Amino acid sequence: MGGNEQSYVKEAFDTNWIAPLGPNVDAFEKSIEKFLGNNINVAVLSSGTAAIHLALELLGVTDGDDVICQSFTFAASANPITYLGAKPVFVDSERETWNMSPQLLEKAITAGLEKGKKPKAIIAVHLYGMPYKVSEITEIAVKYNIPVIEDSAEALGSTYNNEACGRFGDFGILSFNGNKIITTSGGGALVTKNIELKNKAVFLATQARDDAAHYQHSHIGYNYRMSNVLAGIGRGQMEVIDERVKARRSNYNYYNEKLGKLAKIEFLEEPKGFHSNRWLSCILLPTYEIREEIRMALLKENIESRPLWKPMHMQPVFMGCAQFVDGTSEDLFNRGLCLPSGSNLIKEDLNRVIEVILKTLVV
Ligand SMILES: *Cc1c(COP(=O)(O)O)cnc(C)c1O
Repeated sequence: MGGNEQSYVKEAFDTNWIAPLGPNVDAFEKSIEKFLGNNINVAVLSSGTAAIHLALELLGVTDGDDVICQSFTFAASANPITYLGAKPVFVDSERETWNMSPQLLEKAITAGLEKGKKPKAIIAVHLYGMPYKVSEITEIAVKYNIPVIEDSAEALGSTYNNEACGRFGDFGILSFNGNKIITTSGGGALVTKNIELKNKAVFLATQARDDAAHYQHSHIGYNYRMSNVLAGIGRGQMEVIDERVKARRSNYNYYNEKLGKLAKIEFLEEPKGFHSNRWLSCILLPTYEIREEIRMALLKENIESRPLWKPMHMQPVFMGCAQFVDGTSEDLFNRGLCLPSGSNLIKEDLNRVIEVILKTLVV
């Protein structure tokens, strides 16, 4: 926590705004809108997953539709597709950003069109905070007139050509889950340039109650709005987002400085115009075996590290889904490792990690 979270939570208690609406909700939304730049509307919700679900629903995704989704991601990017009875079509990554490959995206779209089935939406992800190739992906989406949901759950504070991630899709989504760069313990947000779509999202997120004195409903709704208590945490967190990004980037730079010269370790550098919040510091090792050797050596020192996300097209639950893959994300999964990346790590912590890795690689 940054410092002022408790005072905003206390304010919620003192004023008895213990509800999924209130001054903290409004102020948290305002602070995110300001952070993301001009002409942006934000609806804070109970989770990032809820935000993706509402985005898909607002785009009219329904039973039997196809939705293209980056395969290399966390399951929450894809799960909401199935809530609506639609089917995910998984697209592999490219090497430069580890995110959706524009070539494979176009292949997936044209394959759909040839079957007479145009995909309803594209879910592209800024994984680990690294922006996807926004220009290329947007250009293809515009060419085929397919809306983009920009999964920025891991990328608050990242920018592409100096513009904030979260602004590029037809909808952006954010997450404030406990593991993200800032957190409300659990929470998320839907981002849109269209105020009417924000209002519709809030309507759906609060049980789709019609405008009447009694409780009347003409739509199926959800209970997805963020609590005013948790929004108080969010207000405090937004005051330290810049510091958090700085701390994460400094972790990455330190690892890179100490390990980047080793031929056996590969870092994901930022292409020109790409600015990552470096939510997690990740490295690639030459083989699966060496990756596992390092992971186990760290574990022996009571240091947790983790393989990169297992691609969705390899997940048991998504077996049989359409896929346009070329082995890239499978290779990243096999050879990649997320290093300890918390904003509160100090030099000694980082040095401990670095020493174990050096010792393991040099023998
Ligand atoms: C965390 C995450 C989500 C989901 O957010 P929740 O708030 O945990 O529901 C979606 N996509 C990605 C890439 C994530 O990392």
